[in-house]
Amino acid sequence: MLKKSIALAVALLIIAVASANAAAPRYYGKLCNSCGFGQRQDYCVKCGKWVGSSSFPAGLCSSCGFGQKKDNCVKCGKWVGNNYYNARICSSCGFGQKKEYCVKCGKWAN
Ligand SMILES: [Zn+2]
Ligand SMILES: [Zn+2]
Ligand SMILES: [Zn+2]
Repeated sequence: MLKKSIALAVALLIIAVASANAAAPRYYGKLCNSCGFGQRQDYCVKCGKWVGSSSFPAGLCSSCGFGQKKDNCVKCGKWVGNNYYNARICSSCGFGQKKEYCVKCGKWAN
């Protein structure tokens, strides 16, 4: 009986994780050549902390990521062109559902 309920709980968890992935932001922030240069790309674009190895891509809402806006640096607003770095957020700024909010305006990023 106990085994069965554990299996059910695991199954529910897998479904929850899978649907969370499906709802991930469609657009991700970028950093320009100068804002992402060297080790600067390893700092959270939200709080400025070093992200280490456990980072999340910085999501953008559909209005901040719309059209060419997603090609603007999330830090300084400059157009990044083809030479950009992926903006990242630290594990605490991206914890749980927080990674699904726009790093620019804070709106729900789906
Ligand atoms: Zn952070
Ligand atoms: Zn920049
Ligand atoms: Zn936004």
